[in-house]
Amino acid sequence: MKTNNPPRSQVLERLEKETFDVAIIGGGVTGAGIALDASSRGLRVALIEMQDFAFGTSSRSTKLIHGGLRYLKQLEFALVKEVGSERAIVHQLAPHLVVPEKMLLPLYEKRGLGYWLASIGLKIYDWLAGVKPEDQRRMLTRFQTIKHEPLLKPHDIRGGAIYAEYRTDDARLTIELIKKAARNGAVVANYVHAMGFVYEGEKVSGVISRDGITGQESRVLASCVVNATGPWVDELRTMNSSRKGKFLHLTKGVHLVVPYHRLPVRQAIYFDVPDGRMIFAIPRGRITYVGTTDTDYHGDKENVCATQDDVRYLLDATNATFPSVGLTPADVESSWAGLRPLIHEEGKSASELSRKDEIFQSDSGLISIAGGKLTGYRKMAERVVDLLIREHFEDRDLSPCSTHKTKLAGALNNYEEVTALRSRLAVDYQKLGLKGDDIAYLIHLYGAQATEILTLVERQRAQDPEIKLALAQLEFSVQNEMIVRAVDFFVRRTGMLFFDLPRLRMVQEVIFPELASHLGWNEARRREEEELLHAAMQQALHFRE
Ligand code: FAD
Repeated sequence: MKTNNPPRSQVLERLEKETFDVAIIGGGVTGAGIALDASSRGLRVALIEMQDFAFGTSSRSTKLIHGGLRYLKQLEFALVKEVGSERAIVHQLAPHLVVPEKMLLPLYEKRGLGYWLASIGLKIYDWLAGVKPEDQRRMLTRFQTIKHEPLLKPHDIRGGAIYAEYRTDDARLTIELIKKAARNGAVVANYVHAMGFVYEGEKVSGVISRDGITGQESRVLASCVVNATGPWVDELRTMNSSRKGKFLHLTKGVHLVVPYHRLPVRQAIYFDVPDGRMIFAIPRGRITYVGTTDTDYHGDKENVCATQDDVRYLLDATNATFPSVGLTPADVESSWAGLRPLIHEEGKSASELSRKDEIFQSDSGLISIAGGKLTGYRKMAERVVDLLIREHFEDRDLSPCSTHKTKLAGALNNYEEVTALRSRLAVDYQKLGLKGDDIAYLIHLYGAQATEILTLVERQRAQDPEIKLALAQLEFSVQNEMIVRAVDFFVRRTGMLFFDLPRLRMVQEVIFPELASHLGWNEARRREEEELLHAAMQQALHFRE
C-alpha cells in the first residue's frame, strides 16, 4: 500500500542517529502544538509519545474550544481574553474540526449565576473574547428558555442565555497537529517511552527512550528537551531531580455517553448542579455526552476510568435538570475519564484551581510545561518556542511564529465552505449506499480529506457500504495517520469507542484482518491487539463491574 508516512523503523532510526534542536516528550495537544510551532520556525524537532498520540488528557476532555465562562466566575479576565481570541484562531485553522456550537445556559431563581449577573457576565465575556456581533449572547425569557429546551425542569427557571462556543474532537485535533509537524520535517513517533535523560556535564542533552513495541532502548539527542507530558510532568521532573517549588494537582473528569434518543437535548447546554458546579450535555450525532466531574486523583494515570460514584453523580445531576428522561446506568453505553494537570495551590479545592499554564525551567535545562487548556495549546506552544529561541537559538535566522495562519490538513477557508462541502458530498455518499447523516461525521473528522476517503470507499471489495466506509477510513489512517495499534484506530482516529460502540462491534471483525495485513502482524500480535481493544471497551464500561 502506498503510504505518506515513512515506515516506523525509519523514523526510529532517525531518532537514534540524528541530533535535534529540540526533543519533545509527550504527544498530547501541548507537545503536538510545540512540535508544529518549533518545526515551522525552522528548528529540527523530535517528538516521542509513550502510548499513542492524544492517549492522555487530549482525548478525554469535554471537547470544547471555549472561552472559559467559568474563568469569568473566578475573575480571571486575562485568561478569558486570551482563550477567547484563541478559539477564533483555532476555528480558522480547521473550520471543519472546530465548529461553532451555540450553548444554552438555563438560569434559575435561587441558584447559580442569576439572570442579571449572567446577562452582564456574558456581555463582558463576548467583549473580552471579541465575539462577532451576530454571535453575541442572547438573553431568553422563562417562556423562551423552556420552549428552547422542553426537557428542562421548568419550575424555578427564571430565563436563559444562548452564547457562542466551539466544539471539536480533541484527539483528531492533536493528530492533525502531529501530521502537520511531521510534514514540516519533525520526526515524530508514538509508542516510544522516555525512561530517563542524557546529560552532558550538568545539562540535559537528550532522552533515554524505549520502543513500546519491541522494547529496544536508545537515545534521542537534542540541544534542549521539553517535558510536555501533561499529568506525568512531575514524574519526568522527578527523574530529572528537579521537582521543586510548584507541583501538579491532578483532578479527574468523567464523561458519560448515552444514546441521543435517551437524552434528546436540542442543543448543547451548560447547567447548574446542586453542589454549585456546572456540567455540560452535548449532542453529537447518534449520542449525547454529559460531563464532567472534578475530583482529586491519586491512582494509576494510565488507567483512569469512571466509577459507580462518578456515574451516579452525573446521572443524578442530569435527571434533576431533565426529570422526564430518568437515565439509569443501563443507558450509559460508553464513557471516558481524563486527568487535569493543574498547578497545586494551597487551600484550594479541585474546582477552584486555576487552569492557567506555567513553564518550569530546571537548573539542568529541562523545560516543563503544565496546566493550561486544549483551547490555549497554540499560545502555550508559542511561549515555549519563544523561550527556547531566546535561550538557545538567538543567533540562528529563524522564522517568526506562524501557527496562527497554518491551516491543518483538510481545512477549508471557512465554515460556509464546510457546509457547502457537506451538501455536495452528501449526494456522492448516498450513491455509495451510505446513510446521509454519516457524512456530517466524516466531514467533522476529516474536512476536505473526506473526499479522499470516499474515493477509497469506492475501491473496497466488501458488499456492505458501512463496512466499506470503515475499511476506507482504516486505509486512510494507515496511509496518513501513523497507527501502530488497533486501539489507535478505534479510539483516537475515528472516536468509535466513545461515540459509536455499535458500529465498532459491527466492523471490528473485518478491521482486524485488514490491519494485520497492512501492518504485517502475526497471529500472536493480532490476538494481543484484540485483547487490548477488549480491555479498552471494558474500561469504558468499568463502572458496571
Ligand atoms: P496530555 O494530553 O495528557 O498529553 C501528555 C502525553 O504525554 C500523554 O499522551 C502521555 O502518554 C505522554 N507521556 C507521559 N509520560 C511520557 C513519557 N515518559 N514518555 C513519552 N510520553 C509520555 N480543555 C479545553 O480547552 N476544553 C475542554 O473542553 C476541556 N475539557 C476538559 C475536560 C476534562 C475532563 C479534562 C481532564 C480536561 C479538559 N480540558 C479541556 C483540558 C485539556 O484537555 C488539557 O489541558 C490538555 O488536553 C492537556 O494536554 P497535554 O498535552 O498537556 O497532556
